[in-house]
Parts: sequence; C-alpha cells; structure tokens
Amino acid sequence: MAADNLADGGAADTHFGFRTVPLGEKQRMVDEVFHSVARRYDLMNDLMSLGLHRAWKDLLVSRLRPPKNGRSFKLLDVAGGTGDVSFRTVEAGGAGTSATVADINGGMLGVGRERAAALGLADRVEFVEANAESLPFADRSFDAATIAFGIRNVPRMDKALSEMRRVLKPGGRCFVLEFSRVDVPGLDAVYDAYSFKLIPGIGRLVTGDADSYQYLVESIRKFPPPEAFADLMRGAGFKRVDWTPLTGGIVALHSGVRI
Ligand code: SAM
Repeated sequence: MAADNLADGGAADTHFGFRTVPLGEKQRMVDEVFHSVARRYDLMNDLMSLGLHRAWKDLLVSRLRPPKNGRSFKLLDVAGGTGDVSFRTVEAGGAGTSATVADINGGMLGVGRERAAALGLADRVEFVEANAESLPFADRSFDAATIAFGIRNVPRMDKALSEMRRVLKPGGRCFVLEFSRVDVPGLDAVYDAYSFKLIPGIGRLVTGDADSYQYLVESIRKFPPPEAFADLMRGAGFKRVDWTPLTGGIVALHSGVRI
C-alpha cells in the first residue's frame, strides 16, 4: 500500500480496482465511473447494500451529534456525491446546522443540488466542486468533516486526510465511513459471492454499466484493513483515532480528532 498513497509526482503506480495504473491516471478513471452512474447512484446504493447504507449513514450522523438547538455547526462532507450524509445531518440538527458537500464530480453534485431543492434544504446544504486532495477552504473553518464511501476512490488518501484535518477547527472530529474487512466466519463467502457475482449484474441492469460496479467491488477489496487505515489517519495528524466495525465488518466507521 505504501506507494499507493505516499508517493507523488506521477511516477508511482496505484490500483484501480484490481488493475495497476499510474497514480496520475486513477482520478480520471474514477471520474468516468461516477459520471456514468450519477443518475442511478442513489437507487444502486439501495439495491447494492440492501438498504443498509441508510443505517450506516444514520449511525455516522448519530456519532456527529449535530446540536439540536440553534448553535452553529458546520459540516464538511468530502466526496459527498449526491448529498446523503449532509441531508441527514442537517435534518438531525437544529437551525444552526449547515453542510458543505465537496466532490470532484459535477454529475454527482448536479443530482445532489436537485435533491436538496426537492427536500427544501437548498439554503442549508451547499455543493462545491473540489478535489479532496486540495480543498478550497480556509484552515480551521469546520466543526466536523466526513467522508462516506469516498476515500477509497481518492488516489492520495494521505493528502485527503491531511486536508480534512487542516480545515477542521481544533477539537473538530473527522469520520470516515468505508467498506472494511468481513470478520464473521461464513459471512465472508456469502459476501464475496454477492459482491462479485451479483453486483456487476445488478449494475448492468440498472445503469447499463457493469464495469463501473466491477470497479466498485474490486476497490472495496483493495482498501486497507482498519488497523492500517487507522495508521494513515494518525500519519495525517489525527489524535484519538479509533474505529467501529459494522455489520460483521462489511463497513467500518473510523474517527479521529484534530487537537
Ligand atoms: N458520500 C456519498 C455517499 O455516501 O453516498 C458518495 C460516495 S461515492 C461512492 C464516491 C464519491 O467520491 C463520488 O461522488 C466521487 O465523485 C467522489 N470522489 C472521487 N474522487 C474524489 C476526489 N479526489 N475528491 C473529491 N471527491 C472525489
């Protein structure tokens, strides 16, 4: 994993699913995936996760604890896509809770803006086209930062984590929700069969694009185990780094604090 995220300058390789690609190429390939699936992304999330992504995101929001009173609480939702985590957070919080969705993909953001308008949340959730590796926000400007099912798509995860730390206020918390390692005997075989045999087929039926979903399941397997990801968070300067495995380890909720 070392060369994947610690190197720079275009000389190193990384992975795009199970393929090895030049580090500088990965982002373009990831962007094609999300441009291709943007319109059907939310439907596919429900189908692929059997609705579980909703429970995982609700747990994330309960850990964020946006204040119920009018106190100001500013969330930065990195790789926030179509806005799910941000909508749930402002709905759970009081009138002072607002969110900024930062994502590199205009197609995903466009769907997110439409959803915000339909939910009546356009005044509390803003959408900004931005690369997680170089966030266009001032130091110490957010109370919390999240990245849900996004970090494994970012070529230089270490940079994205450092950037999230930079823009957090001291005491601000960072949460990373990401697929992890199944740690329940028997569930791993079922999960593998479901991922590799069913998901690309569902992707083909719903989006007409099996390859994008093949990438998504492969990228899940290439993501580092939770201990290694916790080390990356510590390397980015976070303290009190911890994680909670969810649903037998299918997903983990990682957290850290900017002191
Ligand atoms: N967080 C949303 C959710 O949970 O529904 C969307 C997750 S989606 C699986 C991954 C998102 O990461 C996509 O919207 C994609 O455009 C975004 N992404 C990929 N690379 C990125 C980067 N370098 N900077 C910002 N966003 C990125």
